[in-house]
Amino acid sequence: MISPRRTVYRLLYGTRYDKVPWGQRVYVRPGERQVREFQWRLLLRRAPVISLDDYRKRLPLGEIEEFLSCMMCGESRQQPLFEPTGGKGWRYHVVRCPSCGFLYRNPNVRPERLGDLYANSYSKFLTGDYAENRQRRYRLVMESFTPVFDDGTGRRLLDFGCGAGLFLELAERRGFDAVGVDLSPDSVHQANERLQKAKAYFGAPDDVPEIAAGGFDVITLWSVLAHLPRPLEDFATFRRLLAPGGVLMILTVNARSLLLKAYGSKWSGFTKNHLMFYSSKTLPALLRQSGFAGVAYAPHYGDTVEAGTTRLSPELKGRLERNVRRADGGNMMRAIAFADEEAVARWGDKLKIHKL
Ligand SMILES: [Zn+2]
Repeated sequence: MISPRRTVYRLLYGTRYDKVPWGQRVYVRPGERQVREFQWRLLLRRAPVISLDDYRKRLPLGEIEEFLSCMMCGESRQQPLFEPTGGKGWRYHVVRCPSCGFLYRNPNVRPERLGDLYANSYSKFLTGDYAENRQRRYRLVMESFTPVFDDGTGRRLLDFGCGAGLFLELAERRGFDAVGVDLSPDSVHQANERLQKAKAYFGAPDDVPEIAAGGFDVITLWSVLAHLPRPLEDFATFRRLLAPGGVLMILTVNARSLLLKAYGSKWSGFTKNHLMFYSSKTLPALLRQSGFAGVAYAPHYGDTVEAGTTRLSPELKGRLERNVRRADGGNMMRAIAFADEEAVARWGDKLKIHKL
């Protein structure tokens, strides 16, 4: 049976967009951006805002969980919005902060129990096609922030959450004096087999004297930010570890994604281990509180569009790019934070920097 929604789309668009992948359709069908943005505003207007006490009474608390207030602004009231679920029966609740708009999982995971989420090792996924796609994505992000990553000669880089070292491998090829840390011992072992000069360490930055000493020109967070249960503490550490003129690169799912507005609880950004969801509206609060001076963004059009391998016609590709920019709605957020005025001055003529 064909659903009523499918029938509406058929009437509106015919079969013209049937071959466009799902992840691109909402960006290329005429008028869809406006409809999704309207639906979103309606959802925010209709969803009730309740006190944290009332919210606590509604939900059971798992053994590894805790209830939170908004970490970006301190607001305790909750606007429950989504209930993502997935394979093997996981389920969690996502609320929006009614004051600053921050989206986060609530209840969240207690930091000391974070290891429970990662009990099954990631590293088995990190080879073959996965590795190639990952490295392509790393290159595309680096290009989007040209010239920050062009030449690593004489510059120190820390990859926080380095996994099996796929990015460290690219960084050492570009001449960076690179190190990484990760909480998965298997991944760290794999990374060190892969790497020539760069080195991966198990643990937190402060566990490794060479890293704790700081002085980094670049710190990278590749799909790590959404996994941090105490982002303010971590960002204070990153700021301290950066040398004067240093930058912090962030790639994470975009809480303003048009795909989130379209798919709600079924959005691809609500993965099992994600804890917090940032956008260009909420990231500045985190950066400001941890002492950064500025931030620049690069809109994300999707890897195939940026790599030039998309099957979209030039017309549809142009439409996708326009809608991503107008909605600030790419599915990922890419940002570079500048530690201080020296960093702002150094890259300011190449990148559009917003002062914090
Ligand atoms: Zn807030």
